[in-house]
Amino acid sequence: MLLMSSGTASADVPPVSPQAAAAGLVDVRSVVPDARIDLRYATTNNFTGVQLYPADARCLVHESLAPGLTVAAQRLRERGLVLVFWDCYRPHDVQVRMFQVVPNPNWVARPADYAKSHESGRSVDVTYADAHYGWLADMGTGFDDFTPRSYANATEGLTAQQVSNRKLLRDAMAAGGLTVYSGEWWHFDGPGAGDPRPILDVPVN
Ligand SMILES: [Zn+2]
Repeated sequence: MLLMSSGTASADVPPVSPQAAAAGLVDVRSVVPDARIDLRYATTNNFTGVQLYPADARCLVHESLAPGLTVAAQRLRERGLVLVFWDCYRPHDVQVRMFQVVPNPNWVARPADYAKSHESGRSVDVTYADAHYGWLADMGTGFDDFTPRSYANATEGLTAQQVSNRKLLRDAMAAGGLTVYSGEWWHFDGPGAGDPRPILDVPVN
């Protein structure tokens, strides 16, 4: 079940670009109205230290993620929590620039001549926050912390609370059929995220 067809915005979310709509991408706020959007690559607060997206970048996801994100967000909402999105659809040229900075395929996917994962809008980087106060959950590391403590099931160097906070996120996402990447607690794949597809050339704003 999708909340809308591509390109049809809900009341306060402007329609996505015609190119994004044609690619089946939707603005995540159309799917998760209370989502907090904190696209780190639209700022210099990311591992490259460089702003890689325009400041008005949006969190675009493929419509196939919509049912799962709806379920995950509801699970968290019942606990007074909201999903926070750090990255969503990622244009191919940005992937290329990231790999130039961190040329380690364990941490940054090697650019290919096809699109999958973030490049096809089928993966998201998320955490959660308190819906009322906005406090981010303590997961033991920040976003793009390229150390073993970022492994989804890491326990070394983490408190029991941090381990349990990660599990809460994984369980909510799993309820929606979204699976965590073992190497990064914040990265989740939707259906078909691993399948190679033609490279999209779609604006992220
Ligand atoms: Zn990711």
